[in-house]
Amino acid sequence: MSSAPAGARETVAACPACLSVDARPFTTTAAMMHASDERFSFVRCGGCGVVYLSPRVPAADLGDWYPPSYLPWRGPAAWGRWAPLVASGLRATDRRRVRRVQRYGSLGPASRVLDVGCGRPTFLRALVDETGCRAVGTDVSDEGWKGEHALARDLDLRTGELEEFAFDESFDLVTMWHYLEHDYAPHRTLRTVRALAAPGARLVIEVPDHDSWSRRRYGAEWAGYHTPRHTVLWDSASLGSALESAGWQVEAIEPVGSLDAWTLAWMSRQERRGIDWADSMEPHFAGFLAGRALLWPLMRAWERLRGRRGTGVLTAVARAATDGR
Ligand SMILES: [Zn+2]
Repeated sequence: MSSAPAGARETVAACPACLSVDARPFTTTAAMMHASDERFSFVRCGGCGVVYLSPRVPAADLGDWYPPSYLPWRGPAAWGRWAPLVASGLRATDRRRVRRVQRYGSLGPASRVLDVGCGRPTFLRALVDETGCRAVGTDVSDEGWKGEHALARDLDLRTGELEEFAFDESFDLVTMWHYLEHDYAPHRTLRTVRALAAPGARLVIEVPDHDSWSRRRYGAEWAGYHTPRHTVLWDSASLGSALESAGWQVEAIEPVGSLDAWTLAWMSRQERRGIDWADSMEPHFAGFLAGRALLWPLMRAWERLRGRRGTGVLTAVARAATDGR
Protein backbone atom coordinates (compact mmCIF):
# COMPACT_ATOMS: atom_id res chain seq x y z
CA MET A 1 0.00 0.00 0.00
CA SER A 2 1.38 3.38 -0.92
CA SER A 3 1.73 6.06 1.70
CA ALA A 4 -1.11 8.42 2.41
CA PRO A 5 -0.94 11.43 0.12
CA ALA A 6 -0.83 14.77 1.82
CA GLY A 7 -1.03 18.11 0.16
CA ALA A 8 -2.92 21.26 -0.46
CA ARG A 9 -6.71 21.06 -0.65
CA GLU A 10 -8.80 23.61 -2.52
CA THR A 11 -12.12 25.01 -1.35
CA VAL A 12 -14.67 24.93 -4.16
CA ALA A 13 -15.97 28.48 -4.66
CA ALA A 14 -19.20 27.61 -6.50
CA CYS A 15 -21.31 24.52 -7.17
CA PRO A 16 -19.66 22.51 -9.97
CA ALA A 17 -23.14 21.67 -11.33
CA CYS A 18 -25.04 25.01 -11.22
CA LEU A 19 -22.44 27.60 -10.08
CA SER A 20 -24.52 28.67 -7.04
CA VAL A 21 -22.36 29.89 -4.13
CA ASP A 22 -24.95 28.80 -1.55
CA ALA A 23 -23.61 25.64 0.15
CA ARG A 24 -24.25 23.97 3.52
CA PRO A 25 -22.17 21.29 5.29
CA PHE A 26 -23.56 17.83 4.52
CA THR A 27 -21.25 15.04 5.76
CA THR A 28 -17.63 14.06 6.28
CA THR A 29 -16.22 10.74 5.10
CA ALA A 30 -12.93 8.89 5.37
CA ALA A 31 -10.73 8.47 2.31
CA MET A 32 -11.90 5.31 0.49
CA MET A 33 -10.06 2.50 -1.26
CA HIS A 34 -6.84 3.99 0.07
CA ALA A 35 -4.74 3.76 3.24
CA SER A 36 -5.13 7.29 4.56
CA ASP A 37 -6.41 8.80 7.82
CA GLU A 38 -7.50 11.93 6.01
CA ARG A 39 -11.18 12.86 6.16
CA PHE A 40 -13.01 14.95 3.58
CA SER A 41 -16.12 17.13 3.72
CA PHE A 42 -19.05 17.18 1.36
CA VAL A 43 -21.45 20.14 1.12
CA ARG A 44 -24.95 20.36 -0.33
CA CYS A 45 -25.70 23.06 -2.91
CA GLY A 46 -28.57 25.39 -1.95
CA GLY A 47 -29.23 26.01 -5.65
CA CYS A 48 -29.58 22.57 -7.25
CA GLY A 49 -29.29 20.20 -4.27
CA VAL A 50 -26.24 18.32 -5.55
CA VAL A 51 -23.73 17.11 -2.94
CA TYR A 52 -20.10 17.97 -3.73
CA LEU A 53 -16.64 17.57 -2.28
CA SER A 54 -15.17 20.76 -0.77
CA PRO A 55 -12.31 21.23 -0.06
CA ARG A 56 -11.11 18.87 -2.77
CA VAL A 57 -7.78 17.56 -4.07
CA PRO A 58 -6.39 19.90 -6.77
CA ALA A 59 -6.75 18.16 -10.14
CA ALA A 60 -2.97 18.24 -10.60
CA ASP A 61 -2.51 16.08 -7.45
CA LEU A 62 -5.21 13.50 -8.23
CA GLY A 63 -2.62 10.99 -9.46
CA ASP A 64 -1.67 10.45 -5.78
CA TRP A 65 -5.09 8.78 -5.35
CA TYR A 66 -4.62 6.35 -8.24
CA PRO A 67 -1.56 4.28 -7.23
CA PRO A 68 -0.71 1.02 -9.07
CA SER A 69 -2.53 -0.82 -6.22
CA TYR A 70 -5.83 0.95 -7.08
CA LEU A 71 -8.28 -1.96 -7.41
CA PRO A 72 -10.04 -1.07 -10.71
CA TRP A 73 -6.65 -0.71 -12.40
CA ARG A 74 -5.58 -4.19 -11.28
CA GLY A 75 -8.47 -5.63 -13.31
CA PRO A 76 -9.80 -9.18 -12.90
CA ALA A 77 -6.27 -10.40 -11.91
CA ALA A 78 -6.81 -8.81 -8.46
CA TRP A 79 -9.33 -11.60 -7.78
CA GLY A 80 -6.76 -14.41 -8.10
CA ARG A 81 -8.25 -17.72 -9.21
CA TRP A 82 -11.65 -16.08 -9.61
CA ALA A 83 -10.32 -13.75 -12.35
CA PRO A 84 -12.14 -15.52 -15.24
CA LEU A 85 -15.50 -15.14 -13.47
CA VAL A 86 -14.85 -11.48 -12.72
CA ALA A 87 -13.79 -10.90 -16.35
CA SER A 88 -17.01 -12.48 -17.57
CA GLY A 89 -18.98 -10.19 -15.24
CA LEU A 90 -17.24 -7.15 -16.75
CA ARG A 91 -18.07 -8.37 -20.28
CA ALA A 92 -21.71 -8.74 -19.25
CA THR A 93 -21.70 -5.09 -18.06
CA ASP A 94 -20.40 -3.98 -21.48
CA ARG A 95 -23.12 -6.02 -23.21
CA ARG A 96 -25.78 -4.34 -21.03
CA ARG A 97 -24.36 -0.93 -22.06
CA VAL A 98 -24.38 -1.86 -25.75
CA ARG A 99 -28.00 -3.03 -25.52
CA ARG A 100 -28.95 0.12 -23.61
CA VAL A 101 -27.63 2.55 -26.23
CA GLN A 102 -29.14 0.52 -29.08
CA ARG A 103 -32.59 1.38 -27.70
CA TYR A 104 -32.20 4.89 -29.11
CA GLY A 105 -31.95 4.06 -32.79
CA SER A 106 -29.79 1.75 -34.84
CA LEU A 107 -26.07 2.45 -34.97
CA GLY A 108 -24.06 1.60 -38.08
CA PRO A 109 -20.84 2.46 -39.92
CA ALA A 110 -22.05 6.05 -40.49
CA SER A 111 -22.72 6.65 -36.76
CA ARG A 112 -20.29 8.63 -34.60
CA VAL A 113 -20.04 7.81 -30.90
CA LEU A 114 -18.14 9.66 -28.15
CA ASP A 115 -17.45 7.99 -24.78
CA VAL A 116 -16.20 10.54 -22.24
CA GLY A 117 -14.00 9.05 -19.49
CA CYS A 118 -13.65 5.77 -21.38
CA GLY A 119 -11.06 4.24 -18.99
CA ARG A 120 -10.31 0.76 -20.32
CA PRO A 121 -12.37 1.13 -23.54
CA THR A 122 -14.07 -2.27 -23.48
CA PHE A 123 -17.53 -0.73 -23.97
CA LEU A 124 -16.41 1.03 -27.18
CA ARG A 125 -14.68 -2.16 -28.35
CA ALA A 126 -17.91 -4.15 -27.89
CA LEU A 127 -20.01 -1.41 -29.54
CA VAL A 128 -17.72 -1.08 -32.58
CA ASP A 129 -17.46 -4.86 -32.98
CA GLU A 130 -21.24 -5.15 -32.98
CA THR A 131 -22.30 -2.10 -35.01
CA GLY A 132 -19.24 -0.95 -37.01
CA CYS A 133 -19.76 2.62 -35.74
CA ARG A 134 -16.90 5.10 -35.56
CA ALA A 135 -15.91 5.70 -31.95
CA VAL A 136 -13.93 8.27 -30.01
CA GLY A 137 -12.94 7.71 -26.37
CA THR A 138 -11.39 10.34 -24.11
CA ASP A 139 -9.77 10.10 -20.71
CA VAL A 140 -7.36 12.15 -18.63
CA SER A 141 -4.91 9.22 -18.69
CA ASP A 142 -4.03 6.53 -21.25
CA GLU A 143 -3.58 3.88 -18.50
CA GLY A 144 -6.69 2.10 -19.77
CA TRP A 145 -5.36 1.30 -23.26
CA LYS A 146 -1.57 1.77 -23.24
CA GLY A 147 0.03 -1.17 -25.08
CA GLU A 148 -3.35 -2.89 -25.72
CA HIS A 149 -3.38 -2.92 -29.50
CA ALA A 150 -6.22 -5.42 -29.94
CA LEU A 151 -8.44 -3.45 -27.59
CA ALA A 152 -7.61 -0.04 -29.10
CA ARG A 153 -7.77 -1.12 -32.78
CA ASP A 154 -9.87 1.34 -34.93
CA LEU A 155 -10.79 3.41 -31.84
CA ASP A 156 -9.87 7.11 -31.79
CA LEU A 157 -8.58 7.36 -28.19
CA ARG A 158 -7.46 10.71 -26.82
CA THR A 159 -5.75 11.73 -23.58
CA GLY A 160 -6.60 15.04 -21.91
CA GLU A 161 -9.59 17.25 -21.11
CA LEU A 162 -12.58 17.19 -23.45
CA GLU A 163 -12.38 20.95 -24.12
CA GLU A 164 -8.86 20.56 -25.54
CA PHE A 165 -9.87 18.35 -28.46
CA ALA A 166 -10.93 19.36 -31.95
CA PHE A 167 -13.47 17.13 -33.71
CA ASP A 168 -14.25 17.42 -37.40
CA GLU A 169 -17.75 15.89 -37.14
CA SER A 170 -20.58 15.95 -34.63
CA PHE A 171 -21.68 12.90 -32.63
CA ASP A 172 -24.91 10.87 -32.80
CA LEU A 173 -24.40 9.36 -29.36
CA VAL A 174 -22.42 10.51 -26.32
CA THR A 175 -21.96 8.21 -23.32
CA MET A 176 -20.56 8.78 -19.82
CA TRP A 177 -20.39 5.56 -17.77
CA HIS A 178 -19.45 6.54 -14.21
CA TYR A 179 -17.58 9.58 -15.41
CA LEU A 180 -19.66 12.63 -14.42
CA GLU A 181 -19.19 12.06 -10.66
CA HIS A 182 -15.42 12.50 -11.21
CA ASP A 183 -15.69 15.69 -13.27
CA TYR A 184 -14.31 18.92 -11.76
CA ALA A 185 -16.51 21.13 -13.99
CA PRO A 186 -19.58 19.11 -15.06
CA HIS A 187 -21.58 22.24 -16.03
CA ARG A 188 -18.88 22.94 -18.65
CA THR A 189 -18.65 19.30 -19.80
CA LEU A 190 -22.42 19.04 -20.39
CA ARG A 191 -22.34 22.22 -22.49
CA THR A 192 -19.27 21.04 -24.39
CA VAL A 193 -20.90 17.73 -25.37
CA ARG A 194 -24.11 19.59 -26.29
CA ALA A 195 -22.09 21.67 -28.76
CA LEU A 196 -20.56 18.45 -30.18
CA ALA A 197 -23.93 16.71 -30.56
CA ALA A 198 -25.65 16.26 -33.93
CA PRO A 199 -29.35 17.28 -34.10
CA GLY A 200 -31.37 14.58 -32.35
CA ALA A 201 -28.26 12.99 -30.76
CA ARG A 202 -28.62 11.11 -27.47
CA LEU A 203 -26.58 11.51 -24.30
CA VAL A 204 -26.57 8.54 -21.89
CA ILE A 205 -25.13 9.09 -18.40
CA GLU A 206 -24.76 6.57 -15.56
CA VAL A 207 -23.71 7.76 -12.08
CA PRO A 208 -24.07 6.65 -8.45
CA ASP A 209 -27.44 7.78 -7.06
CA HIS A 210 -27.05 9.86 -3.89
CA ASP A 211 -30.77 9.50 -3.21
CA SER A 212 -30.57 5.68 -3.28
CA TRP A 213 -31.33 2.99 -0.74
CA SER A 214 -27.64 2.07 -0.44
CA ARG A 215 -26.53 5.65 0.34
CA ARG A 216 -29.14 5.86 3.11
CA ARG A 217 -28.19 2.41 4.40
CA TYR A 218 -24.41 3.01 4.54
CA GLY A 219 -24.31 6.79 5.16
CA ALA A 220 -20.77 8.19 5.24
CA GLU A 221 -19.41 4.70 4.42
CA TRP A 222 -21.37 4.53 1.13
CA ALA A 223 -18.86 3.53 -1.56
CA GLY A 224 -20.55 5.93 -4.00
CA TYR A 225 -18.57 8.74 -2.33
CA HIS A 226 -15.32 7.03 -3.42
CA THR A 227 -13.64 9.83 -1.45
CA PRO A 228 -11.86 11.96 -2.67
CA ARG A 229 -12.11 10.82 -6.31
CA HIS A 230 -15.83 11.53 -6.69
CA THR A 231 -16.35 15.29 -6.69
CA VAL A 232 -20.11 15.50 -7.37
CA LEU A 233 -22.86 13.16 -6.08
CA TRP A 234 -25.97 13.39 -8.20
CA ASP A 235 -29.59 12.50 -7.68
CA SER A 236 -32.31 12.51 -10.33
CA ALA A 237 -33.39 16.12 -9.62
CA SER A 238 -29.90 17.68 -9.70
CA LEU A 239 -28.84 15.67 -12.76
CA GLY A 240 -32.02 16.61 -14.60
CA SER A 241 -31.63 20.32 -13.92
CA ALA A 242 -27.92 20.27 -14.91
CA LEU A 243 -28.83 18.61 -18.22
CA GLU A 244 -31.67 21.03 -18.98
CA SER A 245 -29.58 24.10 -18.21
CA ALA A 246 -26.84 22.79 -20.53
CA GLY A 247 -29.38 22.68 -23.39
CA TRP A 248 -30.29 18.98 -23.24
CA GLN A 249 -33.88 17.74 -23.33
CA VAL A 250 -34.25 15.10 -20.62
CA GLU A 251 -36.10 11.99 -21.86
CA ALA A 252 -35.72 9.71 -18.86
CA ILE A 253 -33.93 9.43 -15.54
CA GLU A 254 -34.21 5.94 -14.09
CA PRO A 255 -32.93 4.55 -10.76
CA VAL A 256 -31.21 1.60 -12.48
CA GLY A 257 -28.02 1.11 -14.47
CA SER A 258 -25.57 -1.29 -16.05
CA LEU A 259 -23.60 -1.57 -12.84
CA ASP A 260 -24.79 -4.33 -10.54
CA ALA A 261 -26.29 -2.48 -7.56
CA TRP A 262 -25.02 -5.22 -5.23
CA THR A 263 -21.42 -4.29 -6.12
CA LEU A 264 -21.90 -0.82 -4.65
CA ALA A 265 -23.52 -2.23 -1.49
CA TRP A 266 -20.73 -4.82 -1.12
CA MET A 267 -18.03 -2.17 -1.52
CA SER A 268 -19.78 -0.06 1.14
CA ARG A 269 -19.76 -3.05 3.50
CA GLN A 270 -16.03 -3.51 2.94
CA GLU A 271 -15.39 0.21 3.60
CA ARG A 272 -17.26 -0.26 6.88
CA ARG A 273 -15.08 -3.28 7.72
CA GLY A 274 -11.93 -1.38 6.74
CA ILE A 275 -10.43 -4.02 4.41
CA ASP A 276 -7.09 -3.39 2.70
CA TRP A 277 -8.05 -2.75 -0.92
CA ALA A 278 -4.43 -3.18 -2.05
CA ASP A 279 -4.44 -6.87 -1.00
CA SER A 280 -5.59 -9.77 -3.13
CA MET A 281 -9.39 -9.82 -3.44
CA GLU A 282 -9.39 -13.62 -3.76
CA PRO A 283 -10.46 -14.32 -0.14
CA HIS A 284 -13.38 -11.88 -0.50
CA PHE A 285 -14.92 -13.46 -3.57
CA ALA A 286 -17.02 -16.10 -1.80
CA GLY A 287 -18.64 -13.44 0.40
CA PHE A 288 -19.26 -11.23 -2.60
CA LEU A 289 -20.93 -14.05 -4.51
CA ALA A 290 -23.00 -15.30 -1.57
CA GLY A 291 -24.31 -11.81 -0.80
CA ARG A 292 -25.11 -11.27 -4.44
CA ALA A 293 -27.03 -14.54 -4.69
CA LEU A 294 -29.07 -13.70 -1.60
CA LEU A 295 -29.62 -9.97 -1.93
CA TRP A 296 -29.40 -9.14 -5.61
CA PRO A 297 -32.78 -10.66 -6.53
CA LEU A 298 -34.36 -8.57 -3.79
CA MET A 299 -32.59 -5.45 -5.04
CA ARG A 300 -33.68 -6.17 -8.63
CA ALA A 301 -37.28 -6.63 -7.47
CA TRP A 302 -37.05 -3.32 -5.61
CA GLU A 303 -35.66 -1.61 -8.75
CA ARG A 304 -38.51 -2.93 -10.86
CA LEU A 305 -41.11 -1.25 -8.69
CA ARG A 306 -41.57 1.91 -10.68
CA GLY A 307 -41.54 5.14 -8.77
CA ARG A 308 -39.59 3.67 -5.87
CA ARG A 309 -36.21 4.92 -4.77
CA GLY A 310 -33.35 3.08 -6.54
CA THR A 311 -30.76 0.87 -4.89
CA GLY A 312 -27.57 2.56 -6.02
CA VAL A 313 -27.19 3.95 -9.54
CA LEU A 314 -29.00 6.30 -11.93
CA THR A 315 -29.19 6.40 -15.72
CA ALA A 316 -30.16 9.61 -17.51
CA VAL A 317 -31.03 9.83 -21.20
CA ALA A 318 -31.19 13.22 -22.89
CA ARG A 319 -31.70 14.39 -26.45
CA ALA A 320 -30.11 17.25 -28.37
CA ALA A 321 -33.31 18.97 -29.46
CA THR A 322 -33.41 20.31 -33.00
CA ASP A 323 -35.25 23.54 -32.13
CA GLY A 324 -32.03 25.48 -31.74
CA ARG A 325 -31.67 25.02 -27.97
ZN1 LIG B 1 -25.75 23.49 -7.56
